[in-house]
Amino acid sequence: MSQKVVVFSQIDANILEKLKAKYHVVSINPKLGDVNEQIRHEVQDADGMIGSGRLLNKENLNTAKQLKIISTVSVGFDNYDLAYLNEQKIWLANTPHVLTETTADLAFSLMMAAGRKVTSLDAWTKQGNWKRTVGSAQFGQDVFGKTLGIIGLGNIGAAIARRGFHGFNMNILYHNRQEKIELAQAFNAEYCSLKDLLSRSDYIVVAVNLNAESQALIGAEEFGFMQKHAVFVNIARGSVVDEQALIDALKFQQIFAAGLDVYAKEPLQTSELFNLDNVVTLPHVGSATEETRFKMADLAYQNLVNALEGNTPKYLVNSKFNSF
Ligand code: NAP
Repeated sequence: MSQKVVVFSQIDANILEKLKAKYHVVSINPKLGDVNEQIRHEVQDADGMIGSGRLLNKENLNTAKQLKIISTVSVGFDNYDLAYLNEQKIWLANTPHVLTETTADLAFSLMMAAGRKVTSLDAWTKQGNWKRTVGSAQFGQDVFGKTLGIIGLGNIGAAIARRGFHGFNMNILYHNRQEKIELAQAFNAEYCSLKDLLSRSDYIVVAVNLNAESQALIGAEEFGFMQKHAVFVNIARGSVVDEQALIDALKFQQIFAAGLDVYAKEPLQTSELFNLDNVVTLPHVGSATEETRFKMADLAYQNLVNALEGNTPKYLVNSKFNSF
């Protein structure tokens, strides 16, 4: 009998077909009722799970009897209860690298859109407001040659730094828990304390993974350190930032603008952010291109197949144990 795989979110159609050719596949469908109840039911006799964007923890997984792997179609893994997966010896695999450049492109799009008022001026023009030569109300901030502070110089942070350094002649600052001496050399990047980075940067980009230390890393005090002309961008996770403190900083023009791809609660349906014209709000699309989403689904598929064939997946998050 073939092994059972639970698909817990929408996934590339070609990859879904490949899965169906190999396994007994059951898809979780929000239209069919409570998603967590469906997961609890389907996971009982499942061998593997694949998908993204759902909280998976003891509550909805504790009916599983033979689950070997959860293969997430994402690099971030904050949706998964790692301690519980380790305890149950369930592998968690993710999809790093294949989305790095695409997400860095989006971070740069947000920097430029927020700094140069691209989206607010687009709306302004379409509303018929362009009646004479523009004035200072339409002026933005230069990007070229400015100081770019990156919080979290990891894979994506480094790809953002490379764009800033080589493409825009920017001065690069970074903050990590540990200094990245070799990596930083490639962009002449200076290691700073968080406070130092926030107070010296013209553009600030958050690119950390969400963990106990990065939770609420940027709050009212941190916005207070930023310069009045600073542009703040978050492509990491919403919970890294105190969203109300960000709204206040934008509302009272404590900073110039922000570009956001991620939020404390997603999908974002209503928010004070929607009333502000100095923020660009995107619906968590960092990796959302045709090419990259396919590569991510394909890599997640390979991770899953590897595990179900008894091999170690290439990108294992919980590598503490390597056999069942
Ligand atoms: P990565 O290579 O693991 O980089 C994360 C970096 O954050 C590491 O260098 C880490 O270094 C640093 N970091 C972690 N906690 C920190 C803290 N408290 N203070 C300062 N630095 C900290 O991961 P990645 O591939 O670049 O991805 C980063 C994150 O981006 C993902 O985890 C995901 O949440 C998010 N992401 C979002 C999208 C989107 O669609 N918007 C797409 C892809 C990824 P240290 O451990 O040395 O501090």
